[in-house]
Amino acid sequence: MAHDPSRFWERAIILVDMDAFFASIEQLDNPELRGKPVGVTNGMQGTCIITCSYEARRQGVKTGMRLRHALEICPALIQCPSRPERYAQVSITIMEALQDITPDIEIFSVDEAFLDVTRVQKLHGSPEKIVRMTKDRVWQASGLPSSLGLSGDKTTAKYAAKKSKPDGLMIIPPWEAKQRLHDVPVTELCGINTGIGSFLAARGVYTCGDMARLPIGVLGQRFGNPGRRIWYMCQGEDPEKIHVDVPPPKSIGHGKVIPPDTRARRILLIYLLHMSEKVGARLRRHNMVAMTFSVGLMATDGWLGMKMQTPIPINDGLIIYDLCREVLADCWDGEGIHQVHVGALDPQPADGQLELFTEVDLPDRSIENQVKDMINLRFGEFALAPARLLERSTMPNVIAPSWKPFGHRETILHP
Ligand SMILES: [Mg+2]
Repeated sequence: MAHDPSRFWERAIILVDMDAFFASIEQLDNPELRGKPVGVTNGMQGTCIITCSYEARRQGVKTGMRLRHALEICPALIQCPSRPERYAQVSITIMEALQDITPDIEIFSVDEAFLDVTRVQKLHGSPEKIVRMTKDRVWQASGLPSSLGLSGDKTTAKYAAKKSKPDGLMIIPPWEAKQRLHDVPVTELCGINTGIGSFLAARGVYTCGDMARLPIGVLGQRFGNPGRRIWYMCQGEDPEKIHVDVPPPKSIGHGKVIPPDTRARRILLIYLLHMSEKVGARLRRHNMVAMTFSVGLMATDGWLGMKMQTPIPINDGLIIYDLCREVLADCWDGEGIHQVHVGALDPQPADGQLELFTEVDLPDRSIENQVKDMINLRFGEFALAPARLLERSTMPNVIAPSWKPFGHRETILHP
């Protein structure tokens, strides 16, 4: 069926998925690696392949594979230690470039984003034109290959992007989606795992086309709303929107017992930064913001500290940390501290709130924070904190998962 570029799309969703993202960045930064099989591991000690270049994939190397096994099947494989800060930086650059296309973006992972371009058809032209423009934009911003899928819903767009890999682009107009998915095994769609797959197989549903014969109530009864969504997904009509909300916690706090009688200001600040980053990350994970924070320091005679307000609701750890610095300056006279605590007292849904950042004199780090959260999820908590700390202050590169404040004290305090 030919595309009719003049036809208006009632919904137009693009999925951008970078190809072998971390490995491609290594090849970009190190020209001698281009065209060669590259496997990224967690440091040089890492024993698992985090991701690998297409040259390695062609020889059977896969994500999650043991390095030793990968080297057996692909002896030429070049091991590259991961560089989370660099990946985050590139990811942020790409995500920011995508904002030029549309503000309706869901950063789906560190190297994937959904764009709802329905509203910008008047501005940029047909979705077919927009998706090509998007691919070019990603290339200009990063110099990296990506694969894009365009359709009328998230699931079909994601499927199209997967099918176009690597360095591809696939368009499935919404009016063709049902027919294009007809013979596709249901488990090829994102979100349909083998568990659901066997539930469906037991009911005679193997391909998306089979789904039309199964009453939607069967899925609804077993899996609730997500089940009903699956039924629509298979018909090329995934109703899911570009935004995802996570149920909110009532308050968010992080505390830490620290070595007794800690009196070094720098050490206290490092703990407070650690707690602030944790509170910020938790707020963001729940898509929340807050404007009332408590900062506490436990001395021998009890808690020192106070509640602090920000002018607008926020979820950025570094802004929370600024409050901690103020509290430390105002409430602490050098007493020995045993415990620190940072809490967000009034978490509320972030919807729309972050847009306020542009009108207030506070930095908007929402994209950086989202990307950072995803990188840390992949490489371990605070894999990224050190780079940000260095960028921002004179603080040493200390808060890493392996860091023990007093074990390394000499090198921290007397570098
Ligand atoms: Mg990818």
